[in-house]
Amino acid sequence: MGSYDTLSSLQAALFSGKTTCRKQVQHYLEQIERTRKLNAFVEVWAEEALARADQLDARLAGKAGTPPPGKLFGAVVSIKDNICYAGHVVTAGSGILGGFSSLYSATAVERILAEDAIIIGRTNCDEFGMGSSNENSVYGPVRNAADPRRVPGGSSGGAAVAVQTGSCLVALGSDTGGSVRQPAGFCGVWGLKPAYGRISRHGLVAYASSFDQIGFLSRHPENIARFLEVCAGPDAYDSTALRMPFAPVTPDHMPMKIAWYPEVLEQEGLDPKVRQVVAVTIDRYRAAGHTLVPVQAAPLPGASGKETIWDFMVPAYYVLTTAEASSNLARYDGIRYGCRSPEARTLEETYTLTRSEGFGDEVKRRILLGTFVLSSGYYDAYYRKAQQVRRIIQEQTLAVLQDCDFILLPVAPTVAWQLGEKSDDPVEMYLADIYTVQASLAGLPALAVPAGTHPGNGMPIGVQLIGGFGDEVKLLDFAESIHIHL
Ligand code: GLN
Repeated sequence: MGSYDTLSSLQAALFSGKTTCRKQVQHYLEQIERTRKLNAFVEVWAEEALARADQLDARLAGKAGTPPPGKLFGAVVSIKDNICYAGHVVTAGSGILGGFSSLYSATAVERILAEDAIIIGRTNCDEFGMGSSNENSVYGPVRNAADPRRVPGGSSGGAAVAVQTGSCLVALGSDTGGSVRQPAGFCGVWGLKPAYGRISRHGLVAYASSFDQIGFLSRHPENIARFLEVCAGPDAYDSTALRMPFAPVTPDHMPMKIAWYPEVLEQEGLDPKVRQVVAVTIDRYRAAGHTLVPVQAAPLPGASGKETIWDFMVPAYYVLTTAEASSNLARYDGIRYGCRSPEARTLEETYTLTRSEGFGDEVKRRILLGTFVLSSGYYDAYYRKAQQVRRIIQEQTLAVLQDCDFILLPVAPTVAWQLGEKSDDPVEMYLADIYTVQASLAGLPALAVPAGTHPGNGMPIGVQLIGGFGDEVKLLDFAESIHIHL
């Protein structure tokens, strides 16, 4: 009894009695068990998932009066360990939230449950979403199924490996600066970061609130589109959730105009094999009749004259996100959530010991950086500057998208690296985010698509498409038409 690649084929089989929800859950539980060593799941809710499957199966067999099957009926899903699910532990991969059980469910979780999805467990991730390799987790690193000596990417590394190993149909992740797209690219699966505000952040553990967004990973774009449709839309619990109801925009014209940056393909640090996959993708798009438009980033006003947004993308992202993180993470004080140091005797000690013991090194580094860039003496030099750069990046990106439908980029400069390879060099790790942070700084939707493998080591290589606001479905439809040959 195999699993199904798409929600439509799964539901056809469920509705015609070829399979049952229970069989599906059993299948995924076996896959999870078989791939345990990769450490993708930090908790599996086996009994609960089976009980829910039985309820759904009973409903299908039911008589008149039973509610019709929901849009996600029977879909087995994992959720990243930074997405709240009432009555379930959620720790964001951090010691400071050890054992913390959520009092409410994220809006996205409520919406998928209302449409009859089955949640099977929570997946490993970098602590508070901070990382690009899933090595910053209190549960230990996740390993890439394509080569277990290598990282899966981060911070949604567990989500990507859960999909890569066929341990769930869809994984809910979160993407602040690439955390859905980069692990998807490293593991050879599809990953969508919707536009900022497309999906409510209510119940998503905050890292950098003006960037954070719930996203989806799957082996097939159809599943992502179906989940997006259910989760998207206004929400009274999140004032930054877009007010307009979600209306999928599908491609209405052919050929598409796709922008690409020749200078990106020249950048040192870009693995020649990744460059080749992007070049081959450009050829494929052209061969399919689309128009490829080379674009060049304009010099940045006030800089030396030569520098462009590419020189400031990563610095701006890290100044802004660490600033937001230092503020967001102030709430973990040993009093309100999760752990409290048993050694503490005074209020001061409760704060300092709990935070010293509970946070990992990367989180501490970012709190320090963020506090520094927000401090009164440096605010103008760093935080304000980074906000100005963010605005320029957004304007330049939107200008490209005014003329073109999409922007094509690599997902990451290299394939997945070896475990431990970049752990001692945080700046090198940050630089690996160069291609994913553009869409995040601009608040635009972006999709990672599996596009090839490295001929030397067999690791997956992804390409990325950025679209205009509201173009998530257009992105998925376009990419499906080219990259999927069923
Ligand atoms: N690697 C990036 C960071 O560490 C992105 C993480 C994310 O998107 N959550 O901030």
